[in-house]
Amino acid sequence: MQEKKLGELSPEVEEYLRKEVLPLVHSEDHVKAVREKSSSLGPGETLAEKHNDVYFSNDSYQGALLSACAASKGVQTVLDSSNGLDRGYCITRPPGHHAKCSDPAGFCLFNNVALAAKMARKEGKRVCIFDWDIHHGDGTQEQFYEDGDVLFVSMHRCDKLTFYPYNESMKPSFSGEGKGKYHTVNVAWETGLVVDEEVRENNTQSTLGNNEYRKACDTLLFPIVEQFKPDLILISCGFDGALNDPLGWSKLTAMMYAYMTESLTRICPKVLVI
Ligand SMILES: [Zn+2]
Repeated sequence: MQEKKLGELSPEVEEYLRKEVLPLVHSEDHVKAVREKSSSLGPGETLAEKHNDVYFSNDSYQGALLSACAASKGVQTVLDSSNGLDRGYCITRPPGHHAKCSDPAGFCLFNNVALAAKMARKEGKRVCIFDWDIHHGDGTQEQFYEDGDVLFVSMHRCDKLTFYPYNESMKPSFSGEGKGKYHTVNVAWETGLVVDEEVRENNTQSTLGNNEYRKACDTLLFPIVEQFKPDLILISCGFDGALNDPLGWSKLTAMMYAYMTESLTRICPKVLVI
C-alpha cells in the first residue's frame, strides 16, 4: 500500500490549482520549474538559490501548492455570502509576496496573496492588499501596478535600499500607473541604520515599532483604505517586524498586529489574513 503524506492534495485539487488558480499570476514555465526542481531532489536533499533566499526540498512543490490551496479556499469562503463567514486566516507563511510571474524570490515560490486577489477580481470585487510584512511586497505590487480596482498598501524597511529586496520600487514615489495611478502606497521606513544582509549577525535592532506603525496607519493608511471602499481586505501577513525577529530587527508587538487587524475589520467586514 502506498503511503499518503500528511496534507497531500488529491490529483483533482492539484489539477484545479494548476489550471485555474496558478495561471492567474504565474507562467506555466514557472510552475513547471518549481515542480521539477522539487522532484529532482531526494528525501533530505535541499537546494538553495540566490544567496539562500530560495530553498527547495523534495516536498517544496507540494507545500507551495498547499499554501496556494489555502489562499484559494480562504478567499472563496470569505466571499461566499451564504455561509456567514466574513473573516479567515490562512496558516501559510510567508504570504508569497516576493514571488513574481516567472521567478521565485525571498522564500516565496507562489504568490498566495496575489492569487487570492486575482480570484476576487474575477468576481468583480474591489480588493485592498494590506502588506505589513517588514519587507516590501515587490512581487504583489508588480501584479496590480496598473489595476485601479486593487489598492496595494505596504509598510516596509527601506534604509536607503540596503534592506531586502533592495529594489527602487519599494520607494513612496512608486504609486501605480495608468488606471492604477495612486493605488499603490509605499511607506518605506528609514531607520537611520545601514543593513548588512550578507552577514546578518552584523545588524543591530532598529527603534522602529508600534508608535511609527500606529501613526502611519491612523493618519495615512486607514483613511486611504476607507476612501477606497474595498469589498475585501487581504492582509499580506509576515510577522518579521515583530520584536526579536532575527531578520526584521524591529520592535512591533502583538498589540500592534491586533490593532491593525481590528481596525481593518472595522473598515471592511470581509478580511482574509494570508
Ligand atoms: Zn518579510
